[in-house]
Amino acid sequence: MNVVVLRETQAGEARVALMPESVRKLIGLGARVLVESGAGLSAARTDDDYREAGAEISSDRSSLLRTADILACINRPSQSDLHELRSGSVVIGFLRPLDEPAALAHAVAQKLTTFAVELIPRITRAQAMDALSSMATVAGYKAVLIGASHIPRMFPLLMTAAGTIPPARVLVLGAGVAGLQAIATARRLGAVVEGYDVRAAAGEQVKSLGAKFLEVDLGGIKTEDAGGYAVELSDEAMNRGRDLIAKHATTADVVITTAQVPGRRAPLLITEAAVNGMKRGSVIVDLAGATGGNCALSKADETVERHGVTILAPTNLTASVPVHASQLYSRNITSFLTLIIKDGELSIDMTDDVIGPSCVTHQGEVVNQRVAGLLSAAHS
Ligand code: NAD
Repeated sequence: MNVVVLRETQAGEARVALMPESVRKLIGLGARVLVESGAGLSAARTDDDYREAGAEISSDRSSLLRTADILACINRPSQSDLHELRSGSVVIGFLRPLDEPAALAHAVAQKLTTFAVELIPRITRAQAMDALSSMATVAGYKAVLIGASHIPRMFPLLMTAAGTIPPARVLVLGAGVAGLQAIATARRLGAVVEGYDVRAAAGEQVKSLGAKFLEVDLGGIKTEDAGGYAVELSDEAMNRGRDLIAKHATTADVVITTAQVPGRRAPLLITEAAVNGMKRGSVIVDLAGATGGNCALSKADETVERHGVTILAPTNLTASVPVHASQLYSRNITSFLTLIIKDGELSIDMTDDVIGPSCVTHQGEVVNQRVAGLLSAAHS
């Protein structure tokens, strides 16, 4: 049973799906692991590191694809890569099934079994497989460093012989995994931090990190679904949040936005008027750029300037921390693969409460109901 890892080809990508430590584990499960030459270089892992862990190295991408029983990837493979896989083989990675469902048409036609790490349920049993949390942790951390390096001042309170320097003020919107990591990182650097989220449960977590939680009266409406994710809010509820955010943004040096609603455009939290009210020299780091952005002026992967306010919307911050991002991701998918490799053979139990919900396509069908619904809505 061949597990294949290729060099990621998406522009700017530096992560690799499996690190050598995971190769060892997979070989222990009876798998053969084949790695494209150079796949780990950007994550500081050489072909020799993989060889030492027991992998076989090849420069022939096509033949690797043709021999794969499981293709482990970070980003969804290109259509031409998918095309070379054999029918019945497995693909696991960030496949973006809810954002770009049509891109998986090839996978259906070729009868590939595809697992989207975005769909791995956040149940206790699957915690070690939670790649969304791993990547959000890295992105939340890095967003603060980017913000800190952009502002024309320092983060901590400093009492010096030349006088006192007040701490920077950081506002974090969306207190999920990325937001909480951003809050923790900004606090470690000595900033005064405020956090905001529509989920009431986030309030306690924000406060436990030493930040202030911004409360907004949304009139007791439902703000989260059964899975603990935020739901799309009414215009009125959104406007109440935006007003509060605009007020607090006026004093912020760094605003980090992380708000997402799965499968929807990111909620618009910072209006153009709110940006106009911000201080010169302040910066917005918008982590929702890939799904439309939380700030009205964000442009994915571009730097926007508005009367001295810088707006950044990096869509793949995790790739800028490739060693640890790859390490976490590699562990996540290796945990998942232990569920579908038994005695060195592929064994897919679709009734399993982690495997079934994570599967997008299987045996020529779109098996995920949400993705199937999006596709049929797009066709009609
Ligand atoms: P996410 O990336 O989907 O969204 C980020 C944050 O944005 C969320 O906290 C969300 O509430 C917030 N948000 C959405 N719309 C908003 C709006 N209009 N205004 C302000 N904030 C808004 O979320 P995530 O980080 O993936 O976490 C989602 C949930 O899953 C959380 O409850 C988290 O604690 C939970 N979770 C559970 C586990 C687990 O139990 N294994 C692991 C990770 C996360």
